[in-house]
Amino acid sequence: MTVGNMESAVLFDAGKKGRGLKANKDLSAGEVVFAEPSFSAVVFDSLATQVCHSCFRRQAKLHRCAQCRFAYYCDRTCQTACWDEHKQECGAIRKMGMVPKENVRLAARMLWRLHKDTGIVSDSQLVSVDQLEDHVADLPEADLKQLKTDVHSFLKYWSHGSQQHSVDYISNIFGIIKCNGFTLSDQKGLQAVGVGLFPNLGLVNHDCWPNCTVILNHGNQSAVNSALHSQRRIELRALETIPNGEELTVSYVDFLDLSADRKKKLRDRFFFECTCEHCRQHTKDDLMMATSVSDGKKPSADKVKEVSAYSKECLENIEKSRVEGDYHEVVKLCHECLEKQENVLADTHLYKLRVLSVASEVLSYLHSFSEAAAYARRMVEGYMKLYHPNNAQLGMAIMRAGVTYWHAGQIELGHGMICKAYGILLVTHGPNHSITRDLESIRTQTEMELKMFQQNEQVYHTMREAALKNQPVASSSSTDEKLKGCKH
Ligand SMILES: [Zn+2]
Ligand SMILES: [Zn+2]
Ligand SMILES: [Zn+2]
Repeated sequence: MTVGNMESAVLFDAGKKGRGLKANKDLSAGEVVFAEPSFSAVVFDSLATQVCHSCFRRQAKLHRCAQCRFAYYCDRTCQTACWDEHKQECGAIRKMGMVPKENVRLAARMLWRLHKDTGIVSDSQLVSVDQLEDHVADLPEADLKQLKTDVHSFLKYWSHGSQQHSVDYISNIFGIIKCNGFTLSDQKGLQAVGVGLFPNLGLVNHDCWPNCTVILNHGNQSAVNSALHSQRRIELRALETIPNGEELTVSYVDFLDLSADRKKKLRDRFFFECTCEHCRQHTKDDLMMATSVSDGKKPSADKVKEVSAYSKECLENIEKSRVEGDYHEVVKLCHECLEKQENVLADTHLYKLRVLSVASEVLSYLHSFSEAAAYARRMVEGYMKLYHPNNAQLGMAIMRAGVTYWHAGQIELGHGMICKAYGILLVTHGPNHSITRDLESIRTQTEMELKMFQQNEQVYHTMREAALKNQPVASSSSTDEKLKGCKH
């Protein structure tokens, strides 16, 4: 798949939803429908010193742009690759003597590029970036006030010779960023690090149960010759078989919410009323609110109400303690909450899944792998009943559960889950994504350990204990990143 090739998708009139893209040929699960480099993108203000402004990888040691002292890069290769995007920004920052907010920086990067390339960067770009939906007319009062402030700070920052823009046009640009900005994550998929605009992706409509997913591929910078580096890009990937002519959709929100809550999020954030099949039928709402049945008995309505209210409050306290880094308090609260939920809420209930998710993550951070694994497994079993079988969140959750089992010394379960996650990630991320490649090496490792285990259990455990004594457990660093990432 060459970046920019749009032969598999075609623009069409999607009725009430406006423009849309549909398949231009039969697609199979895991196929890249198209890959698109960003029109423009910026690193979040809060992470400006920790993430490379060119490839968006999180790195320990970055080099600062000597001129503006704001942009950071892995090395000269990344800096050179990005200079075209940064050149005018670098000058504007120096001139103003300060750095404006991320959305102002993105708006300016968009306009500098628009001036240079007149909006269309290649034949395969189906629409000019300033023609995307902006929904400025739908913004509530508070947002309009913010918009005014942003436009004001943009105009102070903007310097492009005689080229000036009306306040209305700049407002449209901010509206476009708000509605179409795609969040970019780091190379491990653990943390949101920036935001970018992808004009063709902006044409793909939402469905809560979509047939495609979009991932950021950071490209490959490992070749010595920089001409052989592959570009940072998003990939739209088919989650299932899609027949020629069917609309291509992605989900703008996570599926794990009641349909009414998803609809509200979509209304507030993207200004449309979701009429997808799953929202119309309230599909899976029943499972997300399900109560448990033990010995054929259901809990009373009052009991369910009481436990739901308790869980809601407890989840807020759990989140508070987590942000404060008080992980032992988090574990204590999770235990209390799960005890209350026992025999009242089913394992697919959203409140229970949220507690299980935090409990497994934090316990694994604290190296209580066996307990963490047991919670992770219950969570994954719940997720499998709710998510699309090829959902990326599901794949990542199974991956984490598998690694936790592996660290808990339960190699059979661990390896099984890692294989299952690998199968999903091949579809959602593809074989060349850094997450998939990391998982592949873990899979090779666990496969080897599993063989050893099957040949001689005793020897396996002895070797494992010796190995654990000699080296720090590898999982904690990635869990640590995840925990920190949650605060963003
Ligand atoms: Zn870089
Ligand atoms: Zn600079
Ligand atoms: Zn929907």
